[in-house]
Amino acid sequence: MKSFTGRTPSTGEPFTVHCADGRIAAIEAGAPGESAWLTPGLIDLQVNGYCGDDLNADDLTIDTVQSLAHRMLATGVTTFLPTLITASEEKIIRSLRIITAARQADPLLMYMIPFVHLEGPHIAPDDGPRGAHPREHVRPPDLAEFQRWQDASGDLVGMVTLSPHYPGSSEYIHALSARGIHISLGHTSASADQIHAAATAGARLSTHLGNGVANLLPRHPNLIWTQLAEDRLTATFIADGHHLPADTLTVMMRAKTVQRAALISDLVTLAGLPPGEYVTPVGGKVYLHPDGRLNVAGTPYLAGATATLKDAIAYVANNTGFSLGDATLMATANPGRFAGERGLLRVGATADLLLFRWEQGCSTLAIEDVLVQGQSWL
Ligand SMILES: [Zn+2]
Repeated sequence: MKSFTGRTPSTGEPFTVHCADGRIAAIEAGAPGESAWLTPGLIDLQVNGYCGDDLNADDLTIDTVQSLAHRMLATGVTTFLPTLITASEEKIIRSLRIITAARQADPLLMYMIPFVHLEGPHIAPDDGPRGAHPREHVRPPDLAEFQRWQDASGDLVGMVTLSPHYPGSSEYIHALSARGIHISLGHTSASADQIHAAATAGARLSTHLGNGVANLLPRHPNLIWTQLAEDRLTATFIADGHHLPADTLTVMMRAKTVQRAALISDLVTLAGLPPGEYVTPVGGKVYLHPDGRLNVAGTPYLAGATATLKDAIAYVANNTGFSLGDATLMATANPGRFAGERGLLRVGATADLLLFRWEQGCSTLAIEDVLVQGQSWL
C-alpha cells in the first residue's frame, strides 16, 4: 500500500490517501505541517498537440500520440481527450485509426485517453466563428458519416463540438446523445433559440465559451448570453490571459458558477516550443511571443493556445477571485463528469493523483508527483 499526504485546496486541511491495486483504498486526516497540495490528476477535454507533437498533422503516427501522452503527464494531466479539428472525412478516419492503434498498443494510453473529441467539422462556415478551421471541410451534420467514424475506430469518438445552426441539428444531437456521446456547442453562429433547442436535444457543453465567435454580436439576445443563462450547459474556458480578458472570464465563470465551469488548455503543437516565428500547414506564418501569446504573424489574431492546464489553474486563482480550490475543481471533477466520471478523490476511485506546490502570485503549479492508477510518472 502506497500513501500520499498533502493539503486539499478546498479547505487547506492535510489528508492522506492510501492506494492499493491502482485504486484509492482509504482516505484519512493527515498530519499538519504538509505544504504540498494534493488533488486528483488534471483532466483536459481539449488537446490538439504540444511541444511539436501534432494530432492534426497529415503524418500523425502512433509514436506522436504516445509522446503527447507522456508530455501531458509531465504537466499533471492524467486524462485527456485528443482533439481532431475540421478536416476531410478521409483524414478524420485516418487520425482516428491511429489513435485507436496507439491505445491498443499501450495500456497507459488506453486509460489516459477515454475517447476522442471531434471539434468540427459541423461548425459555422463564416469567418470569425470558424476560427482557424479550414472552410473547405466545414459541412452539415451527417449521421451516416458519424457511423463511419465509429466503425473505423471502434467507437472512439466520445465528444463532438458542433454549431447547432444547421437544419437537422436537433435530430443529430439527439441521436448522438442517446448513444452517450457528449455534445458541445462551439465555433457557432447559432441563434438564442437554436442554442436552447440544442440543449433540449441533449447538448451539455459549450466549447471555449467566448472564443470561436463573431467579433461583433447584437447586444442582446446573442449566443453568449444564452449559453451563460442555459444551466444545462457546462462551459469550457481557455484561461490563459490571451483568449479572454480577466474581467470577461471572471463574469462568465460567475454566471456559470463553479459547478458548470471547466478549464481546457486547447493546446496546439507549437505550445512549449521556444518563442519565435513558425510556419504552420493551415495558418501560414505565426509568431510565438515569450509570454505564450501565439499570433498569426503581423496581426492581433490568436493562432492557438499554449498554456497548459496547470498554468490555467494558477491564472484563475490569481486573476478572477476564484480560489485554488475552485480552480482545481474546474480542472478535475468538473471536466471529469464528461470523461467517464473521473477526477474525484473517493474510496474505490482510480488513484490518479497530483501533488504540487503553489502560492498566490505564482504563474503555474510546481509539480512534485503525478500518479496514474497508483503509479508514479515523475
Ligand atoms: Zn476551437
